[in-house]
Amino acid sequence: MRIGSGYDVHAFVSGRPLVLGGVEVAFDRGLAGHSDADVLTHALMDALLSAMRAGDIGRLFPDDDPVYAGADSIELLGRVAALMAGEGWHLVDADTVLVLERPRIAPHRDAMRARLAGALGVPVESIGVKATTTEGLGFAGREEGVAAYAVVLLERTDA
Ligand code: MG
Repeated sequence: MRIGSGYDVHAFVSGRPLVLGGVEVAFDRGLAGHSDADVLTHALMDALLSAMRAGDIGRLFPDDDPVYAGADSIELLGRVAALMAGEGWHLVDADTVLVLERPRIAPHRDAMRARLAGALGVPVESIGVKATTTEGLGFAGREEGVAAYAVVLLERTDA
């Protein structure tokens, strides 16, 4: 068994869709980034790669590589899942936290869980998504950006 943790931050910017956990959430701004800037999926991928001791998404999908411009992070998560399967790793459980003031995440939470679980080939029960505000404090509180945390538990079934 291995645990992994991941953390990511992206800044809000005008003129881009807000994609969180593979779900486009209606809002007046999106997140800046080379890919679709899906901060939640990025934190989850980093947690998975960390548990595998396989580096991080910056190493796997370099953000100066034009191949990943506008990349669909759910598709990249699917590639991480394939890498895991190839090394005999199985996701037992994952939990995530989005840190943002707005928009409200609760109406989209189950859709995000379903998207993430689908990309990873695990039951939706194995993926937790929740959100919290910072009571107006810090960059998240000032609505300058969104942070995401993820923790995962992996089991190696076939080494
Ligand atoms: Mg990122």
